[in-house]
Amino acid sequence: MTSPMVLILLGPPGAGKGTQARMLEEDFGLVQLSTGDLLRAAAASGSAAGQQAKAVMEAGGLVSDAIVLAILKDRLRQPDVARGIILDGFPRTDGQAVALDGLLAEAGQRVNAVISLEVDDEAMIGRVAGRYTCGGCGEGYHDEFKQPAVAGTCDKCGGTAFKRRADDNAETVRERLKAYHAQTAPLITYYADKGVLERIDAMGDIAAIRGRLGSIIGQVTAH
Ligand code: AMP
Repeated sequence: MTSPMVLILLGPPGAGKGTQARMLEEDFGLVQLSTGDLLRAAAASGSAAGQQAKAVMEAGGLVSDAIVLAILKDRLRQPDVARGIILDGFPRTDGQAVALDGLLAEAGQRVNAVISLEVDDEAMIGRVAGRYTCGGCGEGYHDEFKQPAVAGTCDKCGGTAFKRRADDNAETVRERLKAYHAQTAPLITYYADKGVLERIDAMGDIAAIRGRLGSIIGQVTAH
């Protein structure tokens, strides 16, 4: 039996990791694991770790490896991950990348592909600052680039409540970009050295990028 695929999407805030990961779930039956989503759920639950994470997230910094790894390990215990996973927003530090390799090795698995979404930093501030999601189904929208067809009503589920993330403002995005360049971008070299890195231009349109990702995953699956 082949072991489940482990795919990582790397890229700064606003690069489209979440959007593309949700599409890849549909296209390939993989499961999206977003540590940002898991941390927001922990923060909403009011747990001690969640409270600690919330303050760091609101400031645009990185939550400690210990907290992130604990919630990720928990999530990896769910049976659906056997379908294969797309890691969105993880790993973000050297320590997390090394810990992930260890966890996978214990299960006889490895990282199959890491796709770096290459974008222009300044454009990311506008992309992130205008985005919001449907409170019911999580469908993503943007003030400038993607409004619902009927104002105030979600195209996908008909919901009328929308939400914006507390950290999606220009000032916090600048901090998040700094954290990305200081702590996460070095992982591009880490994975290039392992021979699993692919880089794609992620400035174009969403469907074109979905197609590029699809062909990379198709090649990885064929091997
Ligand atoms: P995201 O939803 O991926 O944009 O993440 C939102 C925020 O959650 C980040 O700005 C960090 O504060 C925190 N976060 C998410 N994933 C990680 C991670 N792997 N390591 C550290 N902090 C993280």
